Amino acid sequence: MEEKLEPEEEEPVTHGAQPIQIVLADQDDHMFELNAVALEKILMQEQLKDLNVVVLSVAGAFRKGKSFLLDFMLRYMYSQSSESWMGGNDEPLTGFSWRGGCERETTGIQAWSEVFVVEKEDGSKVAVLLIDTQGAFDSQSTIKDCATVFALSTMISSIQVYNLSQNIQEDDLQHLQLFTEYGRLAIEEVYEKPFQKLLFLIRDWCYPYEHKYGLAGGNRFLEHRLQVKQNQHEELQNVRKHIHSCFSSIGCFLLPHPGLKVATNPHFDGRLKDIDDEFKKELQNLVPLLLAPENLVEKDINGAKVTCRDLLEYFKAYIKIYQGDELPHPKSMLQATAEANNLTAVAGAKDTYSRSMEQICGGDQPYLAPIDLQRHHEDLKQTSVQKFRSVKKMGGAEFSQRYQEQLESELDEVYSSFVKHNESKNIFYAARTPATLFAVMFF
Ligand code: GDP
Ligand code: MG
Repeated sequence: MEEKLEPEEEEPVTHGAQPIQIVLADQDDHMFELNAVALEKILMQEQLKDLNVVVLSVAGAFRKGKSFLLDFMLRYMYSQSSESWMGGNDEPLTGFSWRGGCERETTGIQAWSEVFVVEKEDGSKVAVLLIDTQGAFDSQSTIKDCATVFALSTMISSIQVYNLSQNIQEDDLQHLQLFTEYGRLAIEEVYEKPFQKLLFLIRDWCYPYEHKYGLAGGNRFLEHRLQVKQNQHEELQNVRKHIHSCFSSIGCFLLPHPGLKVATNPHFDGRLKDIDDEFKKELQNLVPLLLAPENLVEKDINGAKVTCRDLLEYFKAYIKIYQGDELPHPKSMLQATAEANNLTAVAGAKDTYSRSMEQICGGDQPYLAPIDLQRHHEDLKQTSVQKFRSVKKMGGAEFSQRYQEQLESELDEVYSSFVKHNESKNIFYAARTPATLFAVMFF
């Protein structure tokens, strides 16, 4: 469906926005690369960068309708106020590319280029980022890639939709093992639950007479599926036991089969009239359950809300730990989180300093006596360091001390450029010495 992305077929509903590949697995050496430039362009937009971010990701094996589902989420985001967000009967479904057949796709993570600003019930605004993942389990080497994509997307999302076909298998649970270990370590070190919302989404559910479609049936099914039983392998027993310690909320939703046209007709282009009613009925409930303003879950790391700007920092830190040959150890995941969260605290504190200094001695401000400038600097530096110290951080006091020193030296650097700028204003004064005045008056 690459043609869908071509400009001449621009879709009115999506306003020219498109999926952007932000993480890419190299097909040959299986290394992961972050497209930091593209991500920065998405997250650092002026109206977004300081908003708390909600990151919804859909993960799971490929060809299971993830992108298809995300495109309905896009429809919802583009027409929130409307009851009929699902669209017209004859509208082809566009957005993240989805397709039939079984050719290979790239492995990685895509983000929708448009981040949605949503006003919550309390009037606060949040930024909603939608993430699609792609991964194939078709050979030994790609299993690690797929686990990486799953892990990375879980780390950066606040709502992870784990998209599964027909049932929850044992190896689906195994994918969660890394996190349960991470969660256990985090809890040992008295951090909050590391992740927020996990929704198992079972597609093509075919036992509605045992567990009904939807959330209530799903939750009952999940409870049953997570039960620890005697004959289970010990590792899996542990995953079952610990999974609740990693996520603040875990649920399960059972979705019916969408009908044969969706599953098998090569000419199916996503229009509603070709989709079974039962599926549409459940979809109508599912999407708002995840994306209605009152249900949005802001990304939170160790009890602090994450802004779009911070998220960029976390992405950069996390990708590093997934660049090795092995899946990272949960300890290094924790370490990277601690690093990133100290770094975002540095960035936040520095930003406060720079903004206040700008008001005192920025471009439009008059020249200040150096001694006054220095006094302002010292006051604001202290405020900034205090702000850094007051932010809840991971890694312990000694670890944070290094970042505090980094902050202090960065502030001194910013200060010295303010000093230079201030002096230049003085030179401007100097240029208008009596001699120049004299010259102006007499020539
Ligand atoms: P992805 O690789 O997981 O992103 O899967 P896609 O969204 O590209 O969809 C792959 C194929 O599955 C397409 O042909 C869709 O029409 C079809 N499909 C979408 N949703 C469902 C579903 O719930 N059940 C089944 N059986 N097929 C689906
Ligand atoms: Mg896809």
